[in-house]
Amino acid sequence: MTEHEPSTARPAVGVIGLGNMGLPIALNMVRAGFGVIGADVSSERLGRLEQAGGRRAETTAELAGRADVIVLLLPDSKVVTSVVTAPAFVASLRPGTVIVDMSSSEPMRTRELGEALREHGVSMVDAPVSGGVKAAVAARLTIMAGGDADDLAVVRPVLDALGTVTHTGALGSGHALKAINNLLSATHLWATSEAMVLGEQFGLDPAVMLTVLNGSSGRSGSTENKWPNFILPGTFDSGFALRLMLKDVRTAVALADEIGVPGRMAQLTESLWAEASDGLAADADHTEIARWVTADAASTGPDPR
Ligand code: NAD
Repeated sequence: MTEHEPSTARPAVGVIGLGNMGLPIALNMVRAGFGVIGADVSSERLGRLEQAGGRRAETTAELAGRADVIVLLLPDSKVVTSVVTAPAFVASLRPGTVIVDMSSSEPMRTRELGEALREHGVSMVDAPVSGGVKAAVAARLTIMAGGDADDLAVVRPVLDALGTVTHTGALGSGHALKAINNLLSATHLWATSEAMVLGEQFGLDPAVMLTVLNGSSGRSGSTENKWPNFILPGTFDSGFALRLMLKDVRTAVALADEIGVPGRMAQLTESLWAEASDGLAADADHTEIARWVTADAASTGPDPR
């Protein structure tokens, strides 16, 4: 067998993007026994992978030449496209390689990218995730995988080491579902934050409110996770940036527009989050939206009636 023939052993996995999600995901692959090679523009992130038993690639082209499966955890479709269509990267790809975009990307752009890659004998699967940094660390991610069943079967052992995988349909379907999920998540986080301000202004204890809401029909991921773990303690450190949440909401709104589905609430969510994003720090955590809603309510003030 030559160096370039696919081996029957565990595939060599390349991970591009070792940020808040990519690093814990890569570390879980190492723990599961995969040979992991990472690439990132940050040398500090590469150092952390090396310390945990992974290897560093100096360039994404080097990584492409050494990996059977290439996993992307990059900020958005723009960065994904620039990495995956870079001539040196494409020239180094080996036929039979499967690229798995675990970023929260735009479904229509993912489809286009998949078609372009197929011309090079390379397959694509989209496998975005939900659960945040905590679930990434604990290997308990919800993974929404789109693509051909045969391609998914190749990468399934890698994804199974990271959480629970659901095949959502054709390429791009995982990215569509992820955008839809985050549209809901952003909408109920804003709504929950307004509701908490209302209760507090009435004189209710926020902790009591959350206990009751979580046993009632008003509960959501915002009341069960975001508010008790990151907002009420005042840490605002979920590890998911507000700019990334806004990107996901915009992806969902654009999708509704492209398909021709009305999205009145979605547009409202987009404009509210965009306003907050303009007013908060560029690196603000998405849970800081609660601070924004609270400050907004204080500046408007209660109705003097
Ligand atoms: P992050 O900003 O922490 O990480 C992105 C990483 O990509 C950084 O380490 C950055 O240096 C690297 N990078 C950027 N451009 C690069 C390039 N051209 N080449 C190589 N590396 C490059 O983001 P994150 O929070 O890890 O999110 C990654 C993706 O996962 C995003 O699409 C996000 O929407 C999605 N996501 C995040 C969370 C979360 O809780 N953080 C949850 C679900 C999904």
